Amino acid sequence: MTKNIAVIRGDGIGPEIVNEALKVLDRVAELYGHTFNYTDVDMGGCAIDKYGDPLTEAELKKCVESDSVLLGAVGGDKWNDVPGYMRPEKGLLRLRAGMGVYSNNRPAKIWKQLADASPLKKAIVEKGIDFIIVRELIGGIYFGEHKTEGNTATDVLKYSESEIERIGRIGFETARKRKKKLCSVEKSNVLDSSRLWKRVMHRLAEEYPDVELSDMLVDNCAMQIVKNPAQFDVVVTENMFGDILSDEASMITGSIGMIPSSSLGATSCGLYEPIHGSAPDIAGKDIANPIGTILSAAMMLRFSFDMEKEADAIEKAVSDYLDKGYRTADIMSEGMTLVGCKQCGELIIENLKGE
Ligand code: NAD
Repeated sequence: MTKNIAVIRGDGIGPEIVNEALKVLDRVAELYGHTFNYTDVDMGGCAIDKYGDPLTEAELKKCVESDSVLLGAVGGDKWNDVPGYMRPEKGLLRLRAGMGVYSNNRPAKIWKQLADASPLKKAIVEKGIDFIIVRELIGGIYFGEHKTEGNTATDVLKYSESEIERIGRIGFETARKRKKKLCSVEKSNVLDSSRLWKRVMHRLAEEYPDVELSDMLVDNCAMQIVKNPAQFDVVVTENMFGDILSDEASMITGSIGMIPSSSLGATSCGLYEPIHGSAPDIAGKDIANPIGTILSAAMMLRFSFDMEKEADAIEKAVSDYLDKGYRTADIMSEGMTLVGCKQCGELIIENLKGE
């Protein structure tokens, strides 16, 4: 298969971690007979320096026309004083809007080799933590009317059936590619928008008889994520609930450098990026952990290119690398072998196996 990937290296550690992910993709292409073509896209602080704009129309067009986008991270102190409309993060918002991605998907997975890094009790971690939160990204209370009148403020939480249906489908489709368990999270005991949410999810369930749907109130879900996270496979929820729950879920895994994410819309063209930022404190030192970006590339193969075996091979290579005791500085512990960013990429490639 031939796929065209738009590559945004960005700022700080972005270029270092993306380079390692591209090396992994190149090796996958060799082993499985694919061709990945890369188009460089400038976004963030580096684009402000070059064009005076964090994402120009021409750069955005390259992303929209690609089969998917791989992003490192953007931002840094250097651009803190630029006007708000020109900040590096504005590039990211413009990219999401321009690509029409309305679903953000974040896995919470504990690698057994890093179980000690979790703040949860060992007995809970040992049951296994491996789930994805599918969050609606461009609707709900963040996008409703915001108003302050005198000493009263209002924020409107509004969802239409079609907005719920499109994110619901992503939830069902994601569950279909995993253990086929979908938990729909809402607050239907209080909110009308949640009652509509629940109705739409149950209507969709009829089209996905192979997926087991359950409902959970958001307050209970917040508790269950720390009490018994092993029960979850895929969680689907609205924008604000998802914002809060996905941060909670990433915390229980213990390492920010290891977590990938994807954002998807109506087409298979997705945006794939690690959840961390540009880490200016460690940029250019070859010590960043590239695994969050490498696993984002694996998500791209699975969710946008339907390359299930190839995605599995990358995840297995990461697991084998950890089994052999290699660690970048952020996840280093006693008795392990310290490696840099480049070496981490190379060791993962060594562990990559073809069919
Ligand atoms: P950060 O995620 O960049 O860093 C937080 C801490 O985690 C730092 O100590 C950093 O060294 C460490 N860290 C992060 N990623 C790591 C990795 N791969 N390997 C090892 N250690 C890692 O968050 P921050 O410091 O709050 O933000 C720095 C910049 O990144 C800011 O300009 C912020 O706006 C931007 N940011 C960008 C994105 C994005 O591009 N999507 C997301 C968040 C923050």
